[in-house]
Amino acid sequence: MKRYNDGDKNSHGVIMNGLKIYSNQNAIDTLLNMSGSGRLSHSFLFYGESGLGKKTLAKFLSMLILCEDRQNKPCGKCNPCIKILSNSHPDVILAQHYGKRGGFEDRMLKELSLDAYVKPNDGQFKIYIFADSDNISIKGQNILLKIIEEPPPHAKFIFTASGKDIFLPTILSRVTAIPAQPATREQCRTALIDAGITDEGLIDEVINAFGGNIGKCIDAARNEDIMKAVANVKNVCKAIISRNEYALQKALFDALSDRAAAFSTFQMLTLIMRDAILYQSGANSQVMGIDRTLSEQIGGKFTIDVLIAMIDIFKNSSALIDRNMSLPLISAKTTADIFAAL
Ligand SMILES: [Zn+2]
Repeated sequence: MKRYNDGDKNSHGVIMNGLKIYSNQNAIDTLLNMSGSGRLSHSFLFYGESGLGKKTLAKFLSMLILCEDRQNKPCGKCNPCIKILSNSHPDVILAQHYGKRGGFEDRMLKELSLDAYVKPNDGQFKIYIFADSDNISIKGQNILLKIIEEPPPHAKFIFTASGKDIFLPTILSRVTAIPAQPATREQCRTALIDAGITDEGLIDEVINAFGGNIGKCIDAARNEDIMKAVANVKNVCKAIISRNEYALQKALFDALSDRAAAFSTFQMLTLIMRDAILYQSGANSQVMGIDRTLSEQIGGKFTIDVLIAMIDIFKNSSALIDRNMSLPLISAKTTADIFAAL
């Protein structure tokens, strides 16, 4: 079994081979163990919510497969590693997304399946990466099924998606599915500082809001709109906790400033309620999506029935945005619905 020696990590435990990997140690260990014992599968799926480092894992795995260093894969220094790091390796093929929903075009998948039979340019393997494959169609999966069931020995396939359940059982049974996992507070902090975010107050604020999800923490710290949206969502929660109907109406009105903000508001509120349910059911979850303290307060205050009712309300309200109901009307209706449920 090959392990990293200490020289490959900095003092914060960040892997240093050209890639910065702050978390996902379990996934990395699984891949290293498989590779070390020569039992690397031909197909992988990294799954988990966006921001948890799935694409970095795909890159790590590509390097692991093609690295020329015999002792310490992936070295980050050999020719294949350097090409993968700069997204220019001819045998690492990223499937292109197509259309508004970001699916994959059937024609492209057919071409790609045929291409997989052609020998690699440089090394021993060809790697096909299907990143963000949440919107891959059933038909598209069936196109890929044959090549995934009986791949040529030089072909490897890597999928990333938010969950496993979008895939057909026939595909799932052929892939090694590995979850991407939330980072610790300290790992988030290190990643934020490495990303050039030095304001301690801001670091604390984004970790409180998106703790565990390094991608979301960095996005939020760089985007004032996200922080504003988080502040609005917190006000909505506080109004719910204090059962203040007027404050709730106002907070929701502020939060629903445009369609995009409205969607993300209901998404964040749903996550908070989900975490409140987890908290109440005694699961000391690492997966606290947004603001642990608020989730705990809400979980301590309302029954699970009420929390589930609120999740339903947020779902219905999101659907109303899709149906072009005016945002002030949606905030008024949501307020009324919540108060009827409390
Ligand atoms: Zn290498």
